[in-house]
Amino acid sequence: MVSRRLLLGVLASGLAGAPLAALAEGDDHHAPAPRKAAPKPRAAAARAAPAPVRSTVAEYPKPVETHAPEVIINPDEALGRLKHGNAIFARGGASMALPSWTRINELAGGQKPFAIIVGCSDSRVPPELVFDCTLGELFVVRVAGSTVSREGLGSILYAVEHLGAPLIVVMGHTKCGAVGAAVDVVTKHSHLHGALFDMALPIVPAVLEAQAKSPVDLQDAAIRQNVHDTAERLKSADHILSERIASGRLKIVSACYSLSTAQVEFNV
Ligand SMILES: [Zn+2]
Repeated sequence: MVSRRLLLGVLASGLAGAPLAALAEGDDHHAPAPRKAAPKPRAAAARAAPAPVRSTVAEYPKPVETHAPEVIINPDEALGRLKHGNAIFARGGASMALPSWTRINELAGGQKPFAIIVGCSDSRVPPELVFDCTLGELFVVRVAGSTVSREGLGSILYAVEHLGAPLIVVMGHTKCGAVGAAVDVVTKHSHLHGALFDMALPIVPAVLEAQAKSPVDLQDAAIRQNVHDTAERLKSADHILSERIASGRLKIVSACYSLSTAQVEFNV
């Protein structure tokens, strides 16, 4: 992660053309891009690292102090938090709060995500943004089409059993290309080569199920059927999941994100 203060120092000293990588503190060379509208900082303290430098770039957003989220053990509380976060995102008011160094260091010692998101790899549906969350809050399993492989199931089990996540959301999205590919396999007998076929294959049963209901929009119906079926299968995919559901410590729901409204519709 590139230190904002180092960046500010470079900008202030007129060395903006210097390679940013040479100024990075870590091995991540992605510099944060200036934003058009800076969020209101809460407490701008405690970014304890490099020596402070004076900024001459007034519009550059100041670091925003974030606090450790409460440990959430109630599935309904976790669900409510996701709904609240999405409502903020959908109305364009995402806080985009960056974690403080204090928080980053806290998370280095362990994580306690309050939800697992099984989502699509689509670049327009990043869970942390869609739910207005920050570092350490979501455990994310993403593959095109929001399906769950054996490895994906293992990832989910790890987050439930070892990290105590109380909620799993299997989330699709409108106009999902992976589901569209599966629809073409069913309706047009299209040929997908190699691993692309492997990606679409787990979605085909949902397409057939949706097709049997003669929907107006087969792709949209298949998208919703796919996440519904995936969520239902997860409930009995492992005894750890089924036992926690039975004892009220875990909830599994499906959801669909609208690319046009930015709203997540939960099926609960
Ligand atoms: Zn997709």
